[in-house]
Amino acid sequence: MKNKKVVVVGGGLGALSAAIYLAKLGFSVLLFEKNEKVGGKVNEVVLDNYRFDTGASLLTMLSVIDDLFTFAGVTRSDYLDFLPIDPLCRYFFADGSVMDASADITKMKQAIEKISPEDVGAYERFLSYSERIYNLTSEIFMYTPIHEFKKLIKSRHFQTLFRLYQIDPFRTVHQSVSRFFSDPRLIQLFDRYATYNGSDPFQAPATLNIIPYIEYVLGGFYIKGGIYRLIDALVSVANELDVQIHRSSTVEKICHDGKRIMGVQVNGEIIKTEYVLCNTDAVIAHRELIDGYRSISKKLSRLEPSLSGMVFLWGVNGSYPELAHHNIIFSSDYRTEFEQIFKYQHVPDDPTIYIAITSKTDIEHAPEGCENWFVLLNMPYLIPEQIWDQEKDRMRSVVKDKLRQVGLNIDKHIEMEKIYTPVDFQDMYASNRGSIYGISSNSRTTAFKRIPNRSRILDGLYFSGGSVHPGGGIPLVVLSGKMAATLIAEDFGLCE
Ligand SMILES: Cc1cc2nc3c(=O)[nH]c(=O)nc-3n(C[C@H](O)[C@H](O)[C@H](O)COP(=O)(O)OP(=O)(O)OC[C@H]3O[C@@H](n4cnc5c(N)ncnc54)[C@H](O)[C@@H]3O)c2cc1C
Repeated sequence: MKNKKVVVVGGGLGALSAAIYLAKLGFSVLLFEKNEKVGGKVNEVVLDNYRFDTGASLLTMLSVIDDLFTFAGVTRSDYLDFLPIDPLCRYFFADGSVMDASADITKMKQAIEKISPEDVGAYERFLSYSERIYNLTSEIFMYTPIHEFKKLIKSRHFQTLFRLYQIDPFRTVHQSVSRFFSDPRLIQLFDRYATYNGSDPFQAPATLNIIPYIEYVLGGFYIKGGIYRLIDALVSVANELDVQIHRSSTVEKICHDGKRIMGVQVNGEIIKTEYVLCNTDAVIAHRELIDGYRSISKKLSRLEPSLSGMVFLWGVNGSYPELAHHNIIFSSDYRTEFEQIFKYQHVPDDPTIYIAITSKTDIEHAPEGCENWFVLLNMPYLIPEQIWDQEKDRMRSVVKDKLRQVGLNIDKHIEMEKIYTPVDFQDMYASNRGSIYGISSNSRTTAFKRIPNRSRILDGLYFSGGSVHPGGGIPLVVLSGKMAATLIAEDFGLCE
């Protein structure tokens, strides 16, 4: 009789999702997280009475989260309130114009009409196109472990594979968006969705134009109290299912005999198990945790990491009605911004600035009369010669200048500051070269090149998280956890 025990390495969202699925299927689950807190890149801090989400700030594809709670036998609304955000985002363009994007189609069409009347019809056509990609791809690319041949050849997937040309894989995001819209501001706005999984709109395949359908039709949400409440809720559910969560516990080695998993080493101690679910960045795991596979590890390290980021957490005194909960201040030249990031791997001179202010929705997240600004800039993944201390100062000035250009002078109003660079993302979460979404989707074949959920080299080893199939972002890593858990259950003989 096999031992129904699984060790989960890392405590990100993909791990918590897998742990819950596995525990509900009757496995005994031990999870080891190196940090004091679980949640990985979904994280929060409280500094000088300002509370911040330091990672993810927008939630999409709610049904994925709801399904996890339902599978666990509980009701999501007993744990979490999802709040639709309207406007979804306030966009500030380089020419001084401002537009509120909304999931309400009437409001969105009115907003487009104000800046480019001839593009109103294009918006509806674009959404239908985006929906078509969603209908064709979601089942196969998001809900199926595509490296599993038997699952891929199921008849309904097979039909999709024959219609792959319809998912627009041969153009880039930018090329296809430009075919719909005439106004460069709207092109920039819809190009931006490639960054939702850390990619470059001028290289990533237009299949990523699925994302606007997800945000504008399925909706963009915030969680009452902050995105980190999702982690609290999942930890509660995991506890109720007797998942053993060990914090401040670094897994030093995934042990094997060259064929099968034997256990893990934590704090010098070997914990025996036949099943390991690895939620740490899989490129790093192959390099640092799994001995004996140097050539595979070398090959994986050639996969291009996603965007990284620089984050300023600012406690700002005063209130700023010019800003909404989510805001984007665009760069004046998007193409140059992405060339600098991906081609030259430089810190961009004129970065696009994202500002999320949860105190607009949860006023208790900042002291009275103040706001908590989470300011995120797209950055290249790490290369050795970048000097981040200088870049922090340069970027702080750039952000303040750009804020002045939209009428906001906050120079004397920042009373608290904390900065994270790509080095911090690498150190805090052991992410590959500081990438924040795992592997970029800058090539048409990325979906197939991503690391599979079931290891091809060792029996008993599985992967979840942003660096493996189906990719980065909250809903996808939750799905990766579900896929890895399902594969373990199948290999154990519990289901087909
Ligand atoms: C700044 C930022 C903004 C983002 N914005 C959004 C957004 O708005 N919407 C969205 O959907 N997504 C967003 N994301 C992406 C999303 O947060 C991630 O894709 C997702 O949280 C990654 O989950 P994961 O399962 O890959 O685990 P990770 O978050 O990568 O966690 C892995 C965990 O493993 C631990 N670990 C590593 N090595 C070891 C070891 N040897 N032993 C034990 N533990 C180990 C790490 O400490 C970490 O806790 C954002 C991310 C960042 C950083």
